[in-house]
Amino acid sequence: MKVLKFGGTSVGSPERMHRVAELITQSVESKIVVLSAVSGTTNTLVQIGQALKDGQVTEARQIISELEEKYVTFIQDLLISDEAQNEGRAIISSHFEVLNATTQEPFSAEVEKEILAQGELLSTKLFTAYLESQGISAVLLSALEFMRIDSSQEPDEDFIREKLTQILSQHSNAKLFITQGYICMNSHNRIDNLQRGGSDYTASLVGAAVKAEEIQIWTDIDGMHNNDPRIVQRTFRVDNLSFNEAAELAYFGAKILHPFTVRPAQRANIPVRLLNTMQPEAPGTLISDRQEDRAITAIAAKDGITAIKIKSSRMLLAYGFLRRVFEVFEKYQTPIDLITTSEVGVSLTIDNKQYLTQIQEELASFGEVEVDTGHTIVCVVGNMPFQKVGVLKKIVDAIDDIPVRMLSYGGSKFNISLLIDSQYKNETLNRLNDRIFTFPSK
Ligand code: ADP
Ligand code: ASP
Ligand code: MG
Repeated sequence: MKVLKFGGTSVGSPERMHRVAELITQSVESKIVVLSAVSGTTNTLVQIGQALKDGQVTEARQIISELEEKYVTFIQDLLISDEAQNEGRAIISSHFEVLNATTQEPFSAEVEKEILAQGELLSTKLFTAYLESQGISAVLLSALEFMRIDSSQEPDEDFIREKLTQILSQHSNAKLFITQGYICMNSHNRIDNLQRGGSDYTASLVGAAVKAEEIQIWTDIDGMHNNDPRIVQRTFRVDNLSFNEAAELAYFGAKILHPFTVRPAQRANIPVRLLNTMQPEAPGTLISDRQEDRAITAIAAKDGITAIKIKSSRMLLAYGFLRRVFEVFEKYQTPIDLITTSEVGVSLTIDNKQYLTQIQEELASFGEVEVDTGHTIVCVVGNMPFQKVGVLKKIVDAIDDIPVRMLSYGGSKFNISLLIDSQYKNETLNRLNDRIFTFPSK
């Protein structure tokens, strides 16, 4: 069994959906195909939720009706026969009824999540209708029956494995399954999701649950690049990544993978391949347990970081001090990314600002607290055990006139992270690109 995930652009037009159908029917092995929403749809659903949250019901209805128009046009080219067109129209009507109904009820986080789920429900149903109309037999699995997060918002991997195995066993003759990425149920039995970009995470959770032989993430680029191609011009594809390298890159901002995608695959030792729908014959990037012998592999950057410094000459070196600091973050379920300490202060970073005010207030009892928002973590990833001398110098030399707020080195041999003001992000990524990589000869 293989798991193949196609992202928003890969299903972004009727032609692209036709192409995906060709790709998944080229071989006979069993497959679970995970689809994202058609590109742009989730952003529009976010807008609808925002309008309702702001009490702008008329505006929300207007956005819903424009989106429905787009889908009506979409199926004109997606589905060929009259019968298929009728089915497509019925699918669209039922989901837009759900969207319209949300404009008549009081807004809540639950309603918002129901709105956000419509994109993947629509794309998978329309795609399955197309397959059917082409005589391709496929089973549509509802992710809401087997994808579940627990009360800490973590995937319930035991439930996912048991439920999915049970559902698949009811279709023992089927070879092709289609399901929704991103959406799931939560511990209150309500519709929820795995956060933006979460279809990648669905694919790896599904892959681990069925012990797939490979997980393929099909997208609009030929694999993981050494740097963010949206910011840096001369990037190159990295052919092989270890699970650890890929996990660091995804967590620290390489948008091609949802931050948590790698771990389920790594735990189950399932290779992950990043492939390009527009260039299917290209080898892509293979993520596996193999570590290449090179010092620096790639860089990624994560924005929206807040730095918090606690200065306390009295208490810092007392044992138990750091524990008490960490307890504050634990209480507010806020993960810490980077940490550095000195004799008189501790600096750390967070990316979730939801409880920043409360955290700041509680930390104030330990000493003077300074908070700086608008920062970016630039993360250099590779195989850099401390015995490999010169790596740190190379990085620091490349950005010798950029003010670095924090530097985290030695936490793991796979990552060196720098915290900078976000205004220096593009320059930092470009400078590092020019100075720390050996470009492959083509
Ligand atoms: P999908 O909709 O298929 O999930 P995404 O937009 O989420 O696609 O991810 C693919 C995009 O990630 C690429 O188009 C590229 O601009 C961006 N990206 C950011 N960093 C990297 C990187 N290091 N390597 C490859 N792509 C990257
Ligand atoms: N459709 C969702 C999003 O746009 C999930 C995904 O595409 O991975 O965030
Ligand atoms: Mg994505």
